[in-house]
Amino acid sequence: MDFSAQSNISFIKQKIDDLERMTDQDNPYTRIVFSEKFYEARSWLKSEYQKLGLKVSTDEAGNLIGILNSKTDTDKVVIIGSHIDTVPSGGRFDGIAGVVAALCVVKYINENNINLPFNLAIYDYLGEELNDWSISCIGTRGLIGALNEDILSRSNSSGNILKDEIDKIGGNSKSLTKPFSMIKNIVACLELHIEQGKVLEQKKIDIGVVRSIPSISRFSVEVNGQAGHSGTILMDQRADALVTSSEIITFVNKLALRLSKESNQHFVSTIGKINVHPNAAAIIPGKVEMTIDLRASSKSSREQYINELEKQIDAMNQNGSCKIEMRNIAFAPYVEMDKELVKLFKISSDECGFSNIIMDSGAGHDTAHLSRVAPASMIFVPCKDGLSHCPEEYAEISDISKGTAVLFKMVEKLASSSQN
Ligand SMILES: [Zn+2]
Repeated sequence: MDFSAQSNISFIKQKIDDLERMTDQDNPYTRIVFSEKFYEARSWLKSEYQKLGLKVSTDEAGNLIGILNSKTDTDKVVIIGSHIDTVPSGGRFDGIAGVVAALCVVKYINENNINLPFNLAIYDYLGEELNDWSISCIGTRGLIGALNEDILSRSNSSGNILKDEIDKIGGNSKSLTKPFSMIKNIVACLELHIEQGKVLEQKKIDIGVVRSIPSISRFSVEVNGQAGHSGTILMDQRADALVTSSEIITFVNKLALRLSKESNQHFVSTIGKINVHPNAAAIIPGKVEMTIDLRASSKSSREQYINELEKQIDAMNQNGSCKIEMRNIAFAPYVEMDKELVKLFKISSDECGFSNIIMDSGAGHDTAHLSRVAPASMIFVPCKDGLSHCPEEYAEISDISKGTAVLFKMVEKLASSSQN
């Protein structure tokens, strides 16, 4: 039976359509972690697990798991996971494609009565997207023991504490500061994801086998000036926090552009979040808060960037009228995927007859965290115009189906190599 057969395409389409409906109606497609719509999607996924006969559970980190137990008695597990939360006004495929692909793989295994020498677990990793608590990948960070008390005690803008939300969804925030004991049983962590870039589409390639995921750093920047009347305070008497911030924004952009050229590796930096206080037309901005996002495959370029940025801020603090404070609020290191799994993904893709390349990811993923404690690797499928984190995000179902076929082939290969 051919995995890309029409039955898989319609299954994948149906499940993506189902999830598409679970969005804030005014703001498609929005399904933020811990929101009402997120809970709704989780109960939907739970029933999908049950329909496939999977054993359903939520682990201490709040990941929703469906396990297909091997008929052979074993603790070994292969994980196929991704996420069903979205950013505000996000897309219908980011994360979702991977969870739906996993459901499709299990359905195929069930229908063909295949017994695997390991348990196969589908994971919906909790809260992959960056959220109001300024943390991404809650579920995988929790699983590997990378959530500390400082992060768990954070409040969001509505005053909700992260650890309370994790407990409410079925996790146990008290046990998240050390790696889970199940990690020793993991044979492989696999993930299918849309590329969220243009490489595959432009080169007309079916599958991207991911070899590395860049480091991600986030810095909060607070610029304090003096609010005042926009009509009476003269231009040379001002401490305008927004004007000072605009200098930082331009500096960051130019610095990143230069370093990306110099390093010849993945290097991007963005200021995409900014709050201006009091944000009124007739008041000089007194305070600005911004978040800097930095992604780098080269450690030395990353260090050079931080160095030059800190120097610039020091100089601005000495010579300017505003007080600037920068704080590192999140860091995930550069990681390489498991070399054996990368090779096996490539072979699987070749055997399925799909064109493929080995590539570096530009975005961060749950798989990056997992790769620090277990063999992990992922594949990309093309998405239209490289658009993601926006409602226009689109991937052809036939392309997701090809990726799903590779995922199944990969499971088959892992099964035969663990039997040998
Ligand atoms: Zn994602």
